[in-house]
Amino acid sequence: MTIYNHIQGAIDTHVHLGVSRFSGVATTPDAIIQAMDRFGIQSSLVMPQPTLESIPEVHKAIYAMSQNYPGRIYGMASIDPWLSEEEYRSEAAVCIEDYGFVALKLHPLGHNISPLSAGCEKIYEEASTYRIPVLVHTGIGNPFSLPSLMIDAAKRFPAVTFVLAHAGFAVYTDEAVIAAKYCENIILEPSWCPTYTVVKMINTIGVERIIMGSDHLSNLPVELMKFQSIGLSDADLEQILIHNPKKIFNL
Ligand SMILES: [Zn+2]
Repeated sequence: MTIYNHIQGAIDTHVHLGVSRFSGVATTPDAIIQAMDRFGIQSSLVMPQPTLESIPEVHKAIYAMSQNYPGRIYGMASIDPWLSEEEYRSEAAVCIEDYGFVALKLHPLGHNISPLSAGCEKIYEEASTYRIPVLVHTGIGNPFSLPSLMIDAAKRFPAVTFVLAHAGFAVYTDEAVIAAKYCENIILEPSWCPTYTVVKMINTIGVERIIMGSDHLSNLPVELMKFQSIGLSDADLEQILIHNPKKIFNL
């Protein structure tokens, strides 16, 4: 049943597996596949929650999903930046080289770290080495989650693509828009943002730098409907839902 999505082959760039320490929401592999089938999602990018579970174990479970559903599940690694350089880089190598994960996640709230911290340099360096994007949680959990804090890394690592997940989470969305306006390597993923701000994003930076993410499975039809309720052409919808994520994450 695909009542909410008339664009087939869409890609959801923000899915979590496991139990969130913040919301308490638990998501299973079966629930992810069921939601994808129900709403016409071709592929999902899956990462651990900010969680008390073992992150390497969750990464392993995401890898297993990607093996069970080839082309439908891609992994993203969310590794604690407070780990030592060696520990961080070794888990990143497992995820990217062995598991084929397509991005690194920085969660300033979940990881309790400012993107300006020296501890985050290894994330940007690894992304630069492996030529993969960094997905950054923005909006809730300030000051660390302020979208403008990513301008510094974006300017210093121009070859790295930075995805501002939640695009400032409604309240700080203008800040995300400005960051993206002045940094061409910043992409906006507007989960939880109001529809009129999605229009503002598109008018400011164009459809080529916008992608869709659900964050919660129950929010997937809502995010799909948001893009389909703001008067976009089917070509623009396909650009946002399919072509942009394929290009940005090299799927
Ligand atoms: Zn999330």
